[in-house]
Parts: sequence; C-alpha cells; structure tokens
Amino acid sequence: MTGPIAAVFAHPDDEVFSIGGAIARYSGAGVRCTLFCATDGDAGRASGVAVHSREELARLRRAELDRGAAMLGFEPPVYGGFPDGGLAAVDPDLLIGTIVEQLRRWRPSIVITFGPEGAPNAHRDHRAISRAATAAFFAARIATLFPDQIGRGLDPHAPSRLFYVAWPDPPADAELPARSLPVTASIDIAAFRETKRRSFFEHVTQRDHLQRFETLGLTSHEGFHLAAGAPQPRPLIDDLFEGLESRRG
Ligand SMILES: [Zn+2]
Repeated sequence: MTGPIAAVFAHPDDEVFSIGGAIARYSGAGVRCTLFCATDGDAGRASGVAVHSREELARLRRAELDRGAAMLGFEPPVYGGFPDGGLAAVDPDLLIGTIVEQLRRWRPSIVITFGPEGAPNAHRDHRAISRAATAAFFAARIATLFPDQIGRGLDPHAPSRLFYVAWPDPPADAELPARSLPVTASIDIAAFRETKRRSFFEHVTQRDHLQRFETLGLTSHEGFHLAAGAPQPRPLIDDLFEGLESRRG
C-alpha cells in the first residue's frame, strides 16, 4: 500500500460525511491520511449546544474535528482559518497557495475534494474548495507558481490522481437533488460504517444533521470520480490506488 492521501474540504464534518469510511479503511491498511480544513465552521448552528460567540464555536468545532478525524485515522488536521460561508470571496491565489503549500509538504499520491457541484447541498464553500483544490492539484507541480514556498525549502510535487466525491443519481424526490459527476471508484466501507458513525458523533454541534448523515453517509460504499491524473485501468475501480505504478503490497 502506498500513499499518502490528502483530503481538502471546507468545514469540519465534510470529511466524515463524504469519505469517512474510505479513510478508516486506508488508514487501517497503513496509508498516511492527511486533512486540510479551510474554515473552522464557525458560521454554522450548534444543534442546541450553548455557544456564545463565533470564536467559541470555532474552538468547539476544531476540537470536534480533531477527535473525529483521529478516529478515522487522519493525522491531526491542518486548518486554513478562512471565513466560514465566505470561501468564495477569499482571494483565490491565497486559498490555492495555502493548499499548494500543504500538498508540497504532504506529497500525497491522491488528493480528494468535493466535485464542482459542491456536494449534495451545493454549498458555496464546497464549490469554492473544489475549485481551489483542483487548481492546487496542478499548481503544486509548477516550480514558478508560489515560488516563495520553494525558497523556503519545499519542492514542487505532482500528485498522481485527483478524485472528487461522487454518488449515484439521487431519486427525483430526494431532499437534496444535486447530482455529482459519475462514480468511477466505489470503495466498500461496510466494515467501517460503525467507525464512521462514531466519528460523526464527535461532531456534537452537528447532531441536528444526524438524519442527513444516516441517509447520505451511512452507505455500504463511498463513491469517487477520477477528475485528473493517472487513468484508471477499468471504468469502475474499487481501490483508489488501482493501477498506480508506485503501488506496492
Ligand atoms: Zn460543509
């Protein structure tokens, strides 16, 4: 098994909804899994938890993500500290450069983010992080982009594959009708659903979303769409690393 996997998301809990099972599976198999979370999620509601300021909610949500991510086998998350609800208004070069720096540090073979639709709820922050992570996937390998990082000792890095979170088309009467790009990789997470559920429960301030989590998140498989990088050997793979030359074991 090889790696690492770098996940790039907007809010605490995006990771567990989307790819919690796959991360539990890969981290358990020895793959290094890293997470960039662009905001502290401090613009959200708190599911009845008494919170008196955005700063307090930010602290709570970071602590929740620290615990929930560790349960999935992520390394301690890196936080961007960008404005929750305002990612689309951030200077794109600032957001992209921040992600590029992490990719040049972590040197992942696989990068995962939301697709352009912004996940089932089509959140503006989700769409913004998709654009920025996609740009960063390509920019990280170009030495003349963000050259200050190279001057600080980081080397350019070309990840092998970029995957978007994807899922089968929802029924016409679905609460969230957004469609994703087609699933090209389907990861069996049946054995990791309980870990995924426990990780979600660490996000105490997000328990109002439990029903949505159970519907969208507690599936037998997690879906991905190969957005860029090394072609898949088959139209539908069951391992994100399948066909990568560097794969071992
Ligand atoms: Zn989100």
